[in-house]
Amino acid sequence: MEAYYWNKELETIDQASLEDLQLKLLRDTVQAALKTPFYRNRLKKAGINSGDDIRSLQDLQRIPFTTKDDLREGYPTGLLAVDLAEVVRIHTSSGTTGTPTVIYHTKEDLDNWTELVCRCIVATGATREDVFQNTMSYGLFTGGLGLHYGAERLGMTVIPVGSGNTRRQIQLMKDFKTTVIHATPSYMLHIYSKLNEFKIPLNELFLKKAYLGAEPYSENTRRKIEEFFHIDVYNSYGLSEMNGPGVSFECIHKCGMHTWEDSYLLEIIDPKTTRTLSEEHEGEIVLTNLRRRATPLLRYRTRDLAFIHKGKCKCKRTHRRLSRITGRTDDMLIINGVNVYPSQIEEVIMRIPQVGTNYQICLEKDGTLDKIIVKVEIYSKLFTGDIRQLDTLKAKINEELRAAIIISPIVELHEPGSLPVSEGKAKRVVDSRTKL
Ligand code: AMP
Ligand code: ZN
Repeated sequence: MEAYYWNKELETIDQASLEDLQLKLLRDTVQAALKTPFYRNRLKKAGINSGDDIRSLQDLQRIPFTTKDDLREGYPTGLLAVDLAEVVRIHTSSGTTGTPTVIYHTKEDLDNWTELVCRCIVATGATREDVFQNTMSYGLFTGGLGLHYGAERLGMTVIPVGSGNTRRQIQLMKDFKTTVIHATPSYMLHIYSKLNEFKIPLNELFLKKAYLGAEPYSENTRRKIEEFFHIDVYNSYGLSEMNGPGVSFECIHKCGMHTWEDSYLLEIIDPKTTRTLSEEHEGEIVLTNLRRRATPLLRYRTRDLAFIHKGKCKCKRTHRRLSRITGRTDDMLIINGVNVYPSQIEEVIMRIPQVGTNYQICLEKDGTLDKIIVKVEIYSKLFTGDIRQLDTLKAKINEELRAAIIISPIVELHEPGSLPVSEGKAKRVVDSRTKL
């Protein structure tokens, strides 16, 4: 292995060879996708009955888009393209209403994902000498396991601590001399505030780099975190539908995230007209798997907004670079890294008989972390002065919400008519978090 690249040949591949490879892999992927009832039906309508019907990369345009709703409708096995016996792992996404979306992986799929994560880590200059602390949660969420296997394959010393318990995180950082940390930007800021609270001087830590992602953050926040900790921060982008982290990652030059184009076909489209946009124009990211066999997705609309940087990167990697994610085309909220749709909250509170018709979702900062307050109006007859009854109701709402959205909100009960009623389209979400 060459220190600066994990896979020099593929990372620095020239444009013509990349396109040849992409065409071959796209054909194979279409062929694999045709094994699923969903794509058989969808692609047939577009006149595509075999991988060979894709004659050039231009033919990508003939393939219809895939959306999150398609994944939900196909739940649980409508998009499974291999025998279940070949599946070695399942991941589901957070933040879906009712039915989750599921992604199946074969052993080869996981191997390919791990390979991409290795490339990402090496691109930041990290090596097997580094100690890697993973503060992302392990489980169905892809942030934990995704980076984990890449770091291990590279030979780093991995501390698979998972999320939470900041005091312990800091202790581990000190005791095992952690040099690279993987976190959400808001959690990284939280660690900083805890260092101050516990009066732990920075020189007791050995940190050099942080891989931050799973939620949007600004260039200013990157700078702030770099200054606070005296480290380099690298932006990391991914989504469970496309495996998870490892789709796009910054190299040492920190000028946009290289997107591994031998594994993902990258398009930016105008979300309204679906027209393809050229470099430097902001639009919706659309991704096609090129190497996944268990759940190949074609032209998946991510709903994330970004643009592609122009020009070549100094690192000589030829894979194009994505800008920071600037927003979403839908109303998905990201709360401490967890995806939440307002409709999920509505669904839960509206099935509780004591709840009236009006509610509000407020997002605020609690130190550096996010806090969600769900205010609901309840019927006035419940305000009898029996506090216990109200506390029980509050606990019930909290519990049901937590089961649906994974995070625990603060629930406030209000009298009917006390929450603001907006004219026209209701404004249910008040997001007063200062943009990181
Ligand atoms: P999940 O499928 O739960 O991993 O969530 C994926 C979503 O998290 C993406 O579609 C983005 O909206 C968001 N996300 C992931 N990484 C980043 C990042 N570096 N910057 C901004 N948003 C991100
Ligand atoms: Zn680069």
